[in-house]
Amino acid sequence: MSTPTKTSINQQRSIAAFDRASGLMPGGVNSPARAFGAVGGKPLFIERAEGPFLFDIDGNRLLDYIGSWGPMILGHAHPVVIEAIQSAASRGTSYGAPTEAETELAELIVEAVPSVEKLRLVNSGTEATMSAIRLARGATGRDQVIKFSGNYHGHVDSLLVAAGSSAANLGVPDSPGVTEGTSRDTLILEYNDVGALQAAFDKHGQELACVILEPVVGNMGCVPPRPGFLEAARELCTKHGAVLIFDEVMTGFRVAYGGAQQRFGVTPDLTTLGKIVGGGLPVGAYGGRADLMDQVLPAGKVFQAGTLSGNPLATAAGAAMLKLLRDDSPYPYLEEQGQRLADGLTRAASRAGIPHQLQRVGSMMTLFFCDQAVHGWTEASTCNRERFAKYFWGMVERGVYMPCSQFEALFFSATHTAEHIDQTIDAAEAVLQDV
Ligand SMILES: *Cc1c(COP(=O)(O)O)cnc(C)c1O
Repeated sequence: MSTPTKTSINQQRSIAAFDRASGLMPGGVNSPARAFGAVGGKPLFIERAEGPFLFDIDGNRLLDYIGSWGPMILGHAHPVVIEAIQSAASRGTSYGAPTEAETELAELIVEAVPSVEKLRLVNSGTEATMSAIRLARGATGRDQVIKFSGNYHGHVDSLLVAAGSSAANLGVPDSPGVTEGTSRDTLILEYNDVGALQAAFDKHGQELACVILEPVVGNMGCVPPRPGFLEAARELCTKHGAVLIFDEVMTGFRVAYGGAQQRFGVTPDLTTLGKIVGGGLPVGAYGGRADLMDQVLPAGKVFQAGTLSGNPLATAAGAAMLKLLRDDSPYPYLEEQGQRLADGLTRAASRAGIPHQLQRVGSMMTLFFCDQAVHGWTEASTCNRERFAKYFWGMVERGVYMPCSQFEALFFSATHTAEHIDQTIDAAEAVLQDV
């Protein structure tokens, strides 16, 4: 969207900061979603965060529904997590040698996530999915990968192919720099379409290394799996000897402590994690069946390495976060407040007479401005993005920081109180009246 929307909040310093950054970094940012491309205008620069709030450099306080795009399930600057990082930092920041902290985080993940018997820690979700795909190909000796349009798995070349189509088209690259050769081995299907998945296996069953999917999609807005979809993927992979990969970088420790696989009772062969497992520091992980993971170097031959993998600060933050989640489960509370927020946003949109779909799983949800249930990219792409941009800025003016795209799920934390949720609903009531 090209026209910056005028806002009445004070953005003077943020605008100056953005202009300065724009001379030095492409688009002024280090990750594109931060640049507000989908809603117009210029981004807010953040000075600090605490609990459910962000504080920008102009002194605005914002009730945060991005949560660093997922990790902040216990709110910002949780004292236990911060203390764990400080304590680790005082003992040095990286050794390039094994530590017990890595084993502790690995144990916590193995205990929590049903599919994970063994795992490898990496530094981002992208690294996790890239490595999982390599392992699936190495283990099966096959090349082809099935992914679903509207599912995002990080900026891995072979997965930057999303051109929406419900047929098993040969992939067309989504980005300059991704070669046709790379994307040729990626088949794109429509999410939640069991028939298309069945057909793809009928045709390519012998060449398929793996199926990778978000078990609840967060990256086209919140799209839950339809009953039977995950089960069908499981069954077809087993039958044809392909590896089933759940990309739980977003859903892991978010929709349940054991992730979507625990919530929906379907166990993949490999799982990728990120976001919450790092407690706000850069961590990713891939893990699964021990016989598969034992094919990774140095136990096996599939190459994967990382200078800062299992970094002491990151593992300390991750372990502190997971222990908090394990020992004092926030999930019933998040479910309850999620329902409250979903009901309130639905009511606000209905009163304003706006066509909408509210889709939610636990503490992730999206208010889609479209008039049909969103099961895949075909429906998601019909949403009214201009209305979304107005909604976004209207909410910012009322101190509520929603995801800056119709196609990103919102997240809230255990520090969002019923009162915060009600304030958000009141803001939405007002904003939706004139969008
Ligand atoms: C965020 C995300 C990724 C990428 O993780 P990064 O840490 O940004 O590289 C991969 N898959 C899913 C489902 C995600 O939500």
